[in-house]
This record gives sequence, C-alpha cells and structure tokens, in this order.
Amino acid sequence: MNVIDSKRIWLSSPHMGGTEQTFVKEAFDTNWVAPLGPNVDGFEKDVETYLGNEVSVAALSSGTASLHLGLKLLGVSRDDEVLCQSMTFAASANPIVYLGAKPVFVDSESATWNMCPEQLEIAIKDRISKGKKPKAIVVVHLYGMPYNVEAIHNIAAEYKIPVLEDSAEALGSSYHGVKCGTFGDIAILSFNGNKIITTSGGGALVSKNKNHKEKAIFLATQARDNAPHYEHSEIGYNYRMSNITAGIGRGQMQVLDKHVGYRRRNFDFYKKHLADFSEIKFLDEPIGYHSNRWLTCIETISYDLREGLRRSLAEENIESRPLWKPMHQQAVFADCDAYLNGISDDLFDRGLCLPSGSNLEEDDLYRIVSVIKNVLR
Ligand SMILES: *Cc1c(COP(=O)(O)O)cnc(C)c1O
Repeated sequence: MNVIDSKRIWLSSPHMGGTEQTFVKEAFDTNWVAPLGPNVDGFEKDVETYLGNEVSVAALSSGTASLHLGLKLLGVSRDDEVLCQSMTFAASANPIVYLGAKPVFVDSESATWNMCPEQLEIAIKDRISKGKKPKAIVVVHLYGMPYNVEAIHNIAAEYKIPVLEDSAEALGSSYHGVKCGTFGDIAILSFNGNKIITTSGGGALVSKNKNHKEKAIFLATQARDNAPHYEHSEIGYNYRMSNITAGIGRGQMQVLDKHVGYRRRNFDFYKKHLADFSEIKFLDEPIGYHSNRWLTCIETISYDLREGLRRSLAEENIESRPLWKPMHQQAVFADCDAYLNGISDDLFDRGLCLPSGSNLEEDDLYRIVSVIKNVLR
C-alpha cells in the first residue's frame, strides 16, 4: 500500500453519534445562538448525571479555560507555587503561568504513568522547608488511566493542599467504581476535537461545591455584578460555552459509553494481536482502575525502535505520536524546579501512542497491526 491510495488513519478524530444536529438545529430554530441557553443547561445536567456524586458542572469554552478558572477559584495568585504533574499536555501547566504563579513539576510512577505519590510528598516537604507551601496540586489521568487517587489525595489532605484534577482525557474512566472528574476539590474536562467526546471545542469545570459552579459562571461571563447597568468589582473572562457547541455535546453524551467501549476494544485488539512481541509492552489497569483507553500507548524497548515504528506507520499514512514530552524538558519551563525519578524521561524516549479513535474500523486496526508486525519481525 502507498500513501496515495491508502486512507489516512488519525490518532483520534471526532466521531459524531447522529443526534448532535437535532440539538444544534433546535438552537437555530429558537434563535438561542449565544454563549448560554437551553443546550448549555441541558449539557451541564447530562454531565452532572453521568458523573454522579452530586457534582455541579459549569460548561466553559475549553479545558484550558476551565483549568484557568479552577486554579483561580482555589486561590492561586501571583508568586504562588503550584505542583503539577510533569508528564502531561502543556495545557495542564500553562494556566498556572496565566495567574502569575510558578509551576513546580513532579515526575510519574510506572504503574499509571501519572504523578508519583512519593515524589509528590518529597516535593511538598522540600517546598515547605524552603518557606513556601504549594498553593495547589494539578494531577492528571493521562490517556484515560486514573492516577493513584487514594495515595495522592491522602497526601494532599495531610498537608491541606487543594487538588485540581485534570480529567481532560478521562471522561468515562473510573477508580474503584467512582468516575474520574469527581475526586478533585475542582476537576476539569475537555471536549476538544480529539477527546473521547467533543463539542468541536469546549470544556467544563466540575466540583461538589455548588459555589464553585456559580463563581466559575460569574467569572466566565465577564464578572458582571448584580445591577441594571454593567458594574464590575472583579476582572472577568469570556469563557462560557456557546449554546451551539453545547448542542453537539448533548448528542455526544448519548454515545459516550459506546465510545469508551470502542476505545477499550482498540486496546484489546492491539494487545491481542501484538502479544507475541516482547519488544513492546502495554499499560495494564491496576486492580480497581478502569481506563477509558482514550489513547492506546505502547512502551517499546528503545528510542530507535519507537522511531522506527513511528516512521513506518507514517509511511503508510497512519498517524502515531511519541508520549507527552514532560514539562520539565520543555524550553518554556526551563527555569521551573522539578522533582524527578527518571520515569517520565524514559517513557517519553520509548513510548508511542497508536491510533485510537472510536470510529476506527477493524480493517484499519488490521492495517496498523500489520505495519507494526513488519517492523518487529
Ligand atoms: C486536552 C487537554 C487539556 C486542555 O483541554 P482543551 O479543551 O484543549 O483546552 C488539558 N489537559 C490535558 C491533559 C489535555 O489532554
């Protein structure tokens, strides 16, 4: 096969369920073409019902905006320090800088690839001994795999530091039966085009504290005080979700569990068909962990093999990507402190994300697996 006649296979592309346009049409028919309206309210209810645990959800314009407001609600401000998982997408860390605060990065554990509880405690103790107690902890369920909720939250509680749970990649995942997105003092979700469900672009702030929802919506709609004219006593933002995109979200919520099923099917397919090759390894779920398998990732035995696989897939018009480059390796965060154990550096060197869309067909999966097998043989 060559690039000209083979269909492009994407890492993770939007997958519509079918009813999205009904909700969008209704918005047009009723002229609710605005950053609020019945679809926004309905979408928030849908997500609240799905997550359970009496959470309140504020639908916002992106996951990044949700992180920004979430950190602000947790009291992060200028010159504060915020502990942040190093191995993640830059959007987990950037909002710390928007607030004039400073990220301090924490390495991963090998069992989940997420924040290492031991490194977290070392970091907290060290920052406190240097005279500055961290203001918040940003921890991520990477690729849909839950972080060690019990250990991380026990440490956070012991030192009384609030947790911002970045669940952008983990809608549909759970930890001992409890949905990801319900553990943090504040959690965030993303509905970007590549996520497990999409509104084309969007996000949400989640909290068990109803005041957080109210305050997030207040800040997201320009912080307008209660007065007939425009009165402001705080700096606001334009971060609310539009009623059009929320309509897409309402349709997508109807197929979320199906999407989780398809993504988990992808993982099982890869694992089954590549089981004979000791040069690659899959990340299994520890007991009690349930991953939405947003992306199926493999760990190869070397940088060269990873690059060989990536290039061979690219030649066949198949998109794959190295794992997230840790934030402590990024030029933009070169002056930030980090507490490291080598695990995220190693994963970045040897790890690869495979195509994982819920809309992949069996033929696509066979095509991908055959390229990988050819390289490994
Ligand atoms: C996608 C993502 C975000 C940001 O969400 P957007 O909606 O794209 O702004 C934040 N954190 C992680 C881990 C993500 O994968």
